[in-house]
Amino acid sequence: MTRQSKMYKHILFAVDFSEDTDCLVERTSEMMLLNDAKISIVHVLDNIPMPDMSYGTIIPLDYETEHVLLEQTKAQLNKIGLKLNVPENQRWLIWGSPKEEICALAEQENVDLIIVGSHGRHGLALLLGSTANDVLHHAPCDVLAVRLKNV
Ligand code: AMP
Repeated sequence: MTRQSKMYKHILFAVDFSEDTDCLVERTSEMMLLNDAKISIVHVLDNIPMPDMSYGTIIPLDYETEHVLLEQTKAQLNKIGLKLNVPENQRWLIWGSPKEEICALAEQENVDLIIVGSHGRHGLALLLGSTANDVLHHAPCDVLAVRLKNV
């Protein structure tokens, strides 16, 4: 590997924990090693109600279920963080819309490459999954959409 080929300094891997996650972890690891890059990972919670900070936490109807879901998601993120040797302060769990939060985080953290799967939980009917497509159009940096399925 020559110096010139180390194109990326900070890679952000956006993970949705769908069935192809292992393949994406592998590709992210390769890109990280090739570039000798710093790595961050992010999962955006788009299915758990957000606590309302200004009025105190809103307790969802089924608080226990939400709590368990959140803890499971944290555990999944930490598992991947350990696999990729991502320091804890670079493992991001954010509430909101995946495309907006992934792009905003990339900007905030000076990321120069975002890695997403071509398809995840939402995208099988499309040529490119909806999150992948949105990130590609709004990212402040390069995006690697790893091809996952022949559709
Ligand atoms: P989709 O476009 O929703 O089919 O997903 C394509 C890819 O976008 C996935 O393989 C992930 O890399 C990323 N992605 C989708 N949803 C999320 C999410 N909630 N948090 C982080 N990354 C996501």
